[in-house]
Amino acid sequence: MTDSVLIIGAGIAGLTAAQEVAAAGARAVVVEQRPVIGGRLAATMTASDGIGERAEGESVPLFDAIAANDRIEIITNGTVSQINGQAGNFDVAITEKARFVTDACTRCKLCHGVCPVVLPNEYDAGLTFRKAIFTPMLTTWPEAWAIDIDNCLNTPPNYLPCNRCVEVCDDNAIHFDQAVATTHRHHVGAIIVATGLDVGDGTGFEDLGYGSHADIVTSMEMQRLLESPGPTGGYAMRPSDEEYPQSVLIILDEPSAFSLYIAASQAQQLLAQDVEDVTVLVLSQPTSSEAAEALRQKTGIKALWGTACRVVTENAGSLQVSFEDFTEKTLIRMDFDMIVLCVDVGPAPGNPSIAKLTGLALADSGYLSTGGDEHPGIFAIGCAAGAKNIRDSMSDAKVAAEASVRELNPRVLEDSAAGQVGSMPTPDAASIEMRAQIEQLLHALIDRP
Ligand code: SF4
Ligand code: SF4
Repeated sequence: MTDSVLIIGAGIAGLTAAQEVAAAGARAVVVEQRPVIGGRLAATMTASDGIGERAEGESVPLFDAIAANDRIEIITNGTVSQINGQAGNFDVAITEKARFVTDACTRCKLCHGVCPVVLPNEYDAGLTFRKAIFTPMLTTWPEAWAIDIDNCLNTPPNYLPCNRCVEVCDDNAIHFDQAVATTHRHHVGAIIVATGLDVGDGTGFEDLGYGSHADIVTSMEMQRLLESPGPTGGYAMRPSDEEYPQSVLIILDEPSAFSLYIAASQAQQLLAQDVEDVTVLVLSQPTSSEAAEALRQKTGIKALWGTACRVVTENAGSLQVSFEDFTEKTLIRMDFDMIVLCVDVGPAPGNPSIAKLTGLALADSGYLSTGGDEHPGIFAIGCAAGAKNIRDSMSDAKVAAEASVRELNPRVLEDSAAGQVGSMPTPDAASIEMRAQIEQLLHALIDRP
């Protein structure tokens, strides 16, 4: 008999499921392949309640609650390597790669200054750089920094030509003699797959100028600029000169429901930051002129429809966009200070191996089947089973946690709910309503219900 549920992925869906499982009196074993928990949203979760208002080292309620909950075990740098058994009775093996930095790390940053390996920081959407020894964000759990051993000059255990970080670490926190990989074995009654999603990196948007000018950014990069722990403290400053933009164009080229949700949220935040001109250019046939008018009247956002769009970056200060206006059938040229290319999201790259391990079906789209009836005891939630927003991912997590706990013998569950439940900072009700309104009107602009 087991009292445990395996959760693969420590993004918002996985962590919500873990808290629900623990609150029901069971144990959650959470496996995260990155060195820290929180997934893509970890950056947002380090924000307090306003743009730019975060303090270094400020704690994150969700992380604190997870760390304090003795019914939740977290394995970072981990991957599930084996699953055998059936609902109520699975044996799983988890491989944990060494971090090479222990809990003695005080986050003093001295190692960062001496490490010679410079890499794009994927946790800042590539807008900044990190070193081979790094921490992804200001506030993380676990707090210890980590070594990206695939890019480090050392190859433990025997090839250790670089000692720079070890030499400056006064806290003796760096240990290249850690076992390179450790295998954990667990007996669990159910498995929740919360592998999250992958976000487009601008590939395929070269025609729209991506890569030719620093101020043409993807929606993923804009998202990071708008997050208070991001490189600009939460303000949409132009990467080229760190000036505030007066005009921002958001280009929608076959966006999904998820990317429209992101676009709506960003448009709203840009307006809140007093960007005078926020314009949306839809690269398809016009749909509802009423929706465009409603968007302008209710929010101040302008909408255009165009084709044959090109971005000219010859002028140093601004970006000139040219396109054939669908309505007027004329060539339009407009200048903007920044351009946001609305990139799509896709399935997590690890989904095929999870499908093999769990038996969940892998659709042509790359998403997993939701499990449950056809795979008792195994559930894919959140963006593992299709692009979803945070609200739907969290509600999936609650349903799957309940179903998972039903696979356990009630006699092994503890009685009371476990500890405090952490949460993300939430925007105020007016912001939520405004974002939902913009999102609805954007859907009408591209003729999608
Ligand atoms: S590993 Fe050592 S040097 Fe680097 S941040 Fe941690 S305590 Fe400081
Ligand atoms: S051993 Fe050298 S390359 Fe590796 S993390 Fe330390 S300083 Fe960087």
